[in-house]
Parts: sequence; structure tokens; C-alpha cells
Amino acid sequence: MKDSLLEILVCPVCHGPLELRDVERIDKEINAGLLFCARCNYGYKIVEGIPNLLPPENKS
Ligand SMILES: [Zn+2]
Repeated sequence: MKDSLLEILVCPVCHGPLELRDVERIDKEINAGLLFCARCNYGYKIVEGIPNLLPPENKS
């Protein structure tokens, strides 16, 4: 995924900003990493360039 996508991605739970962590790049694009929401204390993985923004499973 491109860095510009980060500007439009928000946390699916609280709609807060996401912080990119542990990024691995191929060429200039983000191939893997973690999109971390500080409000929810939850990280969404990026796998093979695709951000997985599924909210955490409800444990109840
Ligand atoms: Zn959040």
C-alpha cells in the first residue's frame, strides 16, 4: 500500500488516527507492518500490502 493511504485510514472502532509501526517496505510501498490505534490500544496488521482493518473480535 502507498503511504498516502494512511491519511484516509482510521480506526474502524473509534475512528481515531492510526500510527504506523514496524513497517517493512518493498520499493517505496508498505508491504507489512502494524497500524496501531492508541485509543483502543489495538494494532491492525498490514499483510502483503493489504491493511486488515477488521475490528477486534468481541470477546463476550
Ligand atoms: Zn481505535
